[in-house]
Amino acid sequence: MTTARNIEQVYGPPPPHWVGDGFPVRGYFSHIPKGMRRLSPFLLMDYARPYEFPPTENLRRGVGPHPHRGFETVTIAFQGSVAHHDSAGNGGVIHPGDVQWMTAGSGILHREYHAAEFARKGGTFQMAQIWVNLPARDKMTEPAYQAITADQMGAVDLPHGRVRVIAGEYRGVRGPAHTFSPLGMFDVDLRSGGKAEFDFPANWNAGLLVMNGHVMVNGRPAKADDFVLFGHEGESVSVEAGSDARMLLLSGKPIDEPVASYGPFVMNTPAEIEAAIRDFQAGKFGHLDE
Ligand code: MN
Repeated sequence: MTTARNIEQVYGPPPPHWVGDGFPVRGYFSHIPKGMRRLSPFLLMDYARPYEFPPTENLRRGVGPHPHRGFETVTIAFQGSVAHHDSAGNGGVIHPGDVQWMTAGSGILHREYHAAEFARKGGTFQMAQIWVNLPARDKMTEPAYQAITADQMGAVDLPHGRVRVIAGEYRGVRGPAHTFSPLGMFDVDLRSGGKAEFDFPANWNAGLLVMNGHVMVNGRPAKADDFVLFGHEGESVSVEAGSDARMLLLSGKPIDEPVASYGPFVMNTPAEIEAAIRDFQAGKFGHLDE
């Protein structure tokens, strides 16, 4: 017997800011204030709602080479295409519905640009980037890269919609992403009148980003660009769509470890952050051209 998960708060969209010149995002949550880990294992979520880009011959629209250590960056393309390259020699282009799941681990340089063909044509761009923490034992794991295409995604068809499983499990369907701690990441598409139900252990952190339409979430209304933060009472989450709606649902078992961070490095202690800065300055994260 499960009971409905309580809702702590429904947040409207925070003001936008640019990441480089390619990503007009809203930062819905972040570990940065005081090592905050309210949504652990998720550290941060930047969401770029649909935005029109004119055609350009500038094929470096986005962010040039920069380092990361101690966590994973997960980029989901909803509209438009993103190209990624890193100092481990991995890279590729993701198109709508695709996900790139980069494990920075012990340290990597990468660059993130609009894909060339998208930049030249222009068009609507919509994406999300989520930072997923690594448990202390895995922070220095070998860097890795998972390119997950839309056709590899787990999919559960509902009477009036579909749940795409990026990571974790829904109704016996597992998502393709390998993760270092238990978590779920679901792309939920409902037609008007559609309904989807989820269950997570009550102690897991969970949040729901509404990207399109309006929905009732455990009896509370939420609309496009709202973020629903769940409390820790009850297990079940029920979403009913009052119009065609698309959502991103995150849930995960908290990593109960301290968070020390500085810019693109997320570790457990200040000494590990100092080591990350030293190693980066000593060139130990490899090399990557613009
Ligand atoms: Mn990055």
